[in-house]
Amino acid sequence: MFGKKKKQDTNLLEIIDLEKDSEDLLPDTGQKKRKEKAEKEDEHEVLIEFSDVCKKYSQGENEFYALKNANLTINEGEMVVILGPSGAGKSTLLNLLGGMDSASSGHIWFGGEDLTTYSDNRLTRYRAENVGVVFQFYNLIPTLTAYENVALMKDIKEGTTDPVEALSAVGLKEHMHQFPSQMSGGEQQRTSIARAIAKNPKLLLCDEPTGALDTGTGKEVLKLLQSMSRDKGRTVVMVTHNSFFADIADTVIRVKNGGIENVVHNDAPKDASEVFW
Ligand code: ADP
Repeated sequence: MFGKKKKQDTNLLEIIDLEKDSEDLLPDTGQKKRKEKAEKEDEHEVLIEFSDVCKKYSQGENEFYALKNANLTINEGEMVVILGPSGAGKSTLLNLLGGMDSASSGHIWFGGEDLTTYSDNRLTRYRAENVGVVFQFYNLIPTLTAYENVALMKDIKEGTTDPVEALSAVGLKEHMHQFPSQMSGGEQQRTSIARAIAKNPKLLLCDEPTGALDTGTGKEVLKLLQSMSRDKGRTVVMVTHNSFFADIADTVIRVKNGGIENVVHNDAPKDASEVFW
């Protein structure tokens, strides 16, 4: 089930390869570069795969699907944006990815293991070891300083990053002894990102992380999240209703009425600094 992601589209360059005995016959500019890029894309490791995943709730005699037959793959190190209107099923999808909810049916593969077979204890361990979460309203503990909020992660997982290092990575070393009430919204959100990355999670899940911020501050947070994927190789999955954010994603998953409407891979995502809303 797991391994290298296979490209399913017929690649023009593969046809060219069949017709020519040697790669050296390829023109030495565009085609060679495209072939190298295609080969690089084939190297991507799949981190998560959803196979016919459903989440249903009972409403009296009726059943209601918050998510129905979801199929998708997320590669390691990708920046993924989940887009859709309110009530579409975005948070349901994010909660299933993070092991914060369990599927009614289907399979959720993570690194070759099926999360849907996990006991509650094993799922707790999955969350502790692999998942960092950033919420719209930060969810910091108000009576603890930025340093102490991040240091809490040591109680959840062994081998966490030193809080000073995590706070420095988000540009907050100078603010580490301040309480949340003494920080701006952007600083609080950066603290919550430091808390999430201190665990060194494979998966960084963000639920409307800029939703409570003004555009300028929101952009700083987006830049930080994009650099977590591009520079640190973390898999970042962000839920938003803001369609402008699609431009910065490697993969955009559109959700509508509890279903995956489409999954689009973006070959040339924009820098977060270039996005306006
Ligand atoms: P979104 O994040 O896109 O706004 P959600 O994933 O939160 O959407 O919700 C999808 C649908 O599932 C909504 O209609 C919501 O009311 C419903 N839903 C979510 N959680 C529950 C629940 N615990 N019980 C019943 N219905 C729920």
